[in-house]
Amino acid sequence: MALLSVLHYPDPRLRNVARPVESIDDSIRTIARDMLETMYDEGGIGLAAIQVNIRQRIIVIDLSADRDQPLYLINPEILHAEGAEKMQEGCLSVPEYFDYVERAERIGYRYQDLNGETHEREADGLLAVCIQHEIDHLDGKLFIDYLSNLKQQRLRKKLEKQERQYAQVL
Ligand code: ZN
Repeated sequence: MALLSVLHYPDPRLRNVARPVESIDDSIRTIARDMLETMYDEGGIGLAAIQVNIRQRIIVIDLSADRDQPLYLINPEILHAEGAEKMQEGCLSVPEYFDYVERAERIGYRYQDLNGETHEREADGLLAVCIQHEIDHLDGKLFIDYLSNLKQQRLRKKLEKQERQYAQVL
């Protein structure tokens, strides 16, 4: 197990699109477990491989309070989506920023598990939001892309300024 380093906006590598996992082997299982460990370490509820600069369609999620019910979603796809719901979101790649995003309220989704078995499931509430947020990452998309241009510009300036400050300290 190893901790991976999480990319932060506006890193352009967050815009890469992940390719499908062709065979779920030990190397994929290792990546998925390292991603889970990284997500727990960073205090997130979901993490997509693009966020750790791995361009494969792998997502890990754990919504449980005890952090003991991990979900590994390989090649996740949304099959259908209904309703609309606004929920406040944050992201490990956009530190200390939270805002409301409208997404589908209920989804049907398909994925493969770490043994390569395919599952079809339904989700609503936080899990539905989380899956949509993480699949967006695999397509190079961030939750802040849904905000107004003005909000995005402000956020970008703020984060760039923070980065310059860190650079001076070093
Ligand atoms: Zn995110």
